[in-house]
Amino acid sequence: MTKVASGYLQPVVVGDLDHATVDTIYDVCPGTRVDGPPEYPQDPATVDLVWGVWRRMALGWAADPTVRHRGSTGGALTALAQYLLATERVEFVLHVRASTVEPAFGEPTLSFSDADVLDGAGSRYGPTAPLLGVRDVLDLGRPFAFIGKPCDIGALRNWARHDPRVDDLVRYCLTPVCGGFGTPAFTRNFLDRIDIDPEAVTALRYRGNGCPGPTRVETVDRVVEQHYLDYWGDDATQWSLPWRCKICPDGIGETADIAASDAWPGGAPTREGSVDDPGTNALIARTAAGQELLEAAERDGALVIEREIGPAEMSVYQPHQVRKKIAVAPRLLGIADEGRIVPRYDRLRLDELVAEQPVEINEAQRHGTRERIRMGKATEPAPRLP
Ligand SMILES: Cc1cc2nc3c(=O)[nH]c(=O)nc-3n(C[C@H](O)[C@H](O)[C@H](O)COP(=O)(O)OP(=O)(O)OC[C@H]3O[C@@H](n4cnc5c(N)ncnc54)[C@H](O)[C@@H]3O)c2cc1C
Repeated sequence: MTKVASGYLQPVVVGDLDHATVDTIYDVCPGTRVDGPPEYPQDPATVDLVWGVWRRMALGWAADPTVRHRGSTGGALTALAQYLLATERVEFVLHVRASTVEPAFGEPTLSFSDADVLDGAGSRYGPTAPLLGVRDVLDLGRPFAFIGKPCDIGALRNWARHDPRVDDLVRYCLTPVCGGFGTPAFTRNFLDRIDIDPEAVTALRYRGNGCPGPTRVETVDRVVEQHYLDYWGDDATQWSLPWRCKICPDGIGETADIAASDAWPGGAPTREGSVDDPGTNALIARTAAGQELLEAAERDGALVIEREIGPAEMSVYQPHQVRKKIAVAPRLLGIADEGRIVPRYDRLRLDELVAEQPVEINEAQRHGTRERIRMGKATEPAPRLP
């Protein structure tokens, strides 16, 4: 897995691939296989058609004001990870921090202390592969928590079918709800707009230090801070996402113990509202372990819970996630129509969701996907070293 000519972090084939390895890749890669949680709870009241299995939804933030400030939103994921270390439920946390090699990327890191965990706070919107060294991490034979995007958690759960150490050692999976990351070209355009040569960047922090906090770019002799909306654009139609993210069957972390998101009505901050926003996470505890962790972290003062919410309110904060969840199944049909590999999915209610939509809308999604594929928008050059 390396930075390829297109600017993405991608796997490059360096030797002969035997059939067994290719089969394993198709079974594990979240680009080809995405499943929901293995078991649904018996109580159907805790399964929402869009939001999946949930035991508790609440608004909250890290109790420590420094963590809340440094965090991407309200620092909840950092606070939970620190709590897991403090209570010795895990020995370390596998997550990411800003890359030390490619400032726009994220890189995997093992955190053994509060300070380490805090160092990784903030969302990395550049290419980031937290599972790069996961087999070495499992070789340590020590219990740990994993924080990764929904696709990363999905990949780890897929890998658990091949490596029993995953279920034994990975005690908690925490995830940011994820609308997708910024394409390398998008980040390059942003740097162009602020007149910074991508090669000159020494540090890039996408958000955090407030909610969302500034996008801060450093070179040896300049520091430029821009608003989150200057990076992403003023509305969702301007987001430039990789194709995989546009057809993502699970941006909401269905296989995590806890998923954490922003809580901006409409899905994006406003320039005025974010001046002194201290940050509030919308939190979804999905498993019994996640629910217990949320309760314990609140009880022991690591997390502040403001109030309970439910799926309807989540949808107010995440309209783009709702739209995508509903659109994914017909988009995947469009991919199949064009003879492309279609990601396999199960237990994500995509077919039930689509059945609730008017046929014309589903057909428009399917047709639009076919058009995009024919226009080359779903095609990337074969990964090539720069
Ligand atoms: C690519 C991306 C897209 C997102 N899209 C949405 C969205 O559509 N809607 C929404 O509400 N929220 C989205 N978020 C989540 C949001 O930005 C916050 O991460 C989330 O609210 C948690 O905030 P926090 O303050 O608790 O996180 P923090 O306490 O700052 O902790 C964040 C944790 O996430 C890990 N992390 C950061 N970036 C990555 C990455 N790229 N890959 C793997 N792990 C990472 C860090 O290592 C850290 O441990 C997205 C985040 C990312 C990374």
